[in-house]
Amino acid sequence: MHFKELIGQQAIKEQLWHSRSDDRVSHAQLFLGNLGYGGLALALAYAQLVNCSQPYSGDSCGKCLSCQRSRKLVHPDIHFCYPTIGSKAVSTQFIGEWRSMVQKSPYFDAYEWLQHLNADNKQGNITAEECDDIVRKLSMTAHDEQSYKILIVWLPEYLGKEGNRLLKLIEEPPDQTLFLLVAENADLILNTILSRSQMLKIPRLRDEDIAQSLEQQRLLGAEQSRQVAALANGDYREALAIMKGGDHDNQQYLLRWLTACVHHNAADLDAFVEQIADIGRESQKNFLRYVLHFWQQCLMAQHLSHRAVLSKAEAVFAQRLLPTITWEHIYSISEMTEKSIYHIERNANPRILFLDLSIRLQRYLPKW
Ligand SMILES: [Zn+2]
Repeated sequence: MHFKELIGQQAIKEQLWHSRSDDRVSHAQLFLGNLGYGGLALALAYAQLVNCSQPYSGDSCGKCLSCQRSRKLVHPDIHFCYPTIGSKAVSTQFIGEWRSMVQKSPYFDAYEWLQHLNADNKQGNITAEECDDIVRKLSMTAHDEQSYKILIVWLPEYLGKEGNRLLKLIEEPPDQTLFLLVAENADLILNTILSRSQMLKIPRLRDEDIAQSLEQQRLLGAEQSRQVAALANGDYREALAIMKGGDHDNQQYLLRWLTACVHHNAADLDAFVEQIADIGRESQKNFLRYVLHFWQQCLMAQHLSHRAVLSKAEAVFAQRLLPTITWEHIYSISEMTEKSIYHIERNANPRILFLDLSIRLQRYLPKW
């Protein structure tokens, strides 16, 4: 895939492009970050770039034979290693499943991958046989002598002590060989592998980039995309999960709730509580996370002159509200909102919880 097909991550793309154009490709690189930030997508695009015969303006050409093969995941010099099922299994046995999964979207996690392999409750692993297979593949000469031999290891956390079989390769790699490790949790990777890799920390995605992708690729409306992105913590997988979780309009809930609170309108407040109590725990948690996002944006706008990422209707509301409310109040409101999420997770009665929260919220808000 191209860099330009990826969601966000502009700074990392530029860094990788320069490493290629300045001929400073480090032979073992660890892409570390939540899988929903796009580590695999970056590794795939980087592998395509490194072997592209005519890269230009910050990206692979997408047209040369190498790019075409990379895109279809059939490049003879780009190998993959990932967790599989079975004590002696090797990745190549599952390459068909891998291609179909990655081509659908490279933003998935180990659970989704193992489900795709029909693993049921079986654990995934990267076997000793797989490590031997890698050593064999990488010791062969490249099909194209211009090419790098590249191994993309997705989730080296699953290597366990078998990973030691690869150490010599990583330590003294054959010429023109590149290891790209895509990982989520450095604590679960063998130290000996960590210390031999150059670490590239993949940051969370920007909310704007997630929203844009939801709008263009998933055909979600602009306002809904913005709301989902606001809840996703910079993680595209999380955004997709929230999107699937329901189409509740959190903005509408928020404004209705706050309006009933500032007007001390008991009937409206009661109706709101009744409605929110019925949407289910996951949606209630999402709503409260959205509320937190709103207050955080208010705080940033008030004290850091930061342009708040709010919808027009929210911004109008916030503008009227903010001059009459202190940051200590916003802090207290955020704290009780967070506590409410905690209590919902522990099966609190939603009617009592939202009613209590509303009454306490009114103490901090002005009366309009
Ligand atoms: Zn190319």
